[in-house]
Amino acid sequence: MSVLDAISRNLTAVRQRISDAAARSGRQASQVRLIAVTKYVGLPEIKALVAAGCRELGESRPQELWEKAAALGTPDSSGTPTWHLVGHLQRNKVRRTLPLAAWVHSVDSVRLLDEIETQAASLGCRPRVLLEVNVSGDSTKHGFAAAQLEPLLPRFAELRSVAIRGLMCMAAREGDLDVARRNFADFRGLRDRLRRVAPENVSLDELSMGMSGDFEVAIEEGATMVRVGSALFEGTD
Ligand SMILES: *Cc1c(COP(=O)(O)O)cnc(C)c1O
Repeated sequence: MSVLDAISRNLTAVRQRISDAAARSGRQASQVRLIAVTKYVGLPEIKALVAAGCRELGESRPQELWEKAAALGTPDSSGTPTWHLVGHLQRNKVRRTLPLAAWVHSVDSVRLLDEIETQAASLGCRPRVLLEVNVSGDSTKHGFAAAQLEPLLPRFAELRSVAIRGLMCMAAREGDLDVARRNFADFRGLRDRLRRVAPENVSLDELSMGMSGDFEVAIEEGATMVRVGSALFEGTD
């Protein structure tokens, strides 16, 4: 089977699984966005994915996003994909990233958020961002501590150029779906509590959670964005 055929078949299978999981949670498939994480593959595979109809792409490293987005063409209205940065963003890389990435899922500190605000104002763009929360409490992982967020809401509300749209998390560890489900349910509970007290211009509607090993469970627990990499590229090497 050609790489194009394998990717197209994988994409169809992942979309079907998304739609089945959405139905189990009483939602439409269109309420869950698939972000195809392309960090394992090169341009030919990404082009195959786009040709197969995938329009939202993600990278975890800023430099790779720059290179792949430039090679593919910057976002426009003619079917060129939208890029999501899903991994850690260093402050000195914000200015080069914002023109290319419509979404940043991985805003993990106030200092980073302030830098995004400053650069977005200077570039005249309006990045959509998610606040990454460290749900596992592992100090080697990035993200706000859950308890930090509520006191910061008034400060978030002062942002003029950045649009806060929701929260993002990584499940504690892959493998145990029951643990993942509990993590996702707790995370959604945190989002629901914060949303009740959030100022009007701080939207927490988006929940980015779930990867290849656990995206169906994440959708059942309320994910609006799933970040899927390896499941899309099986059988391509
Ligand atoms: C790599 C990565 C993914 C996708 O992982 P898979 O298990 O390959 O689906 C999702 N989110 C982030 C932040 C990643 O770095």
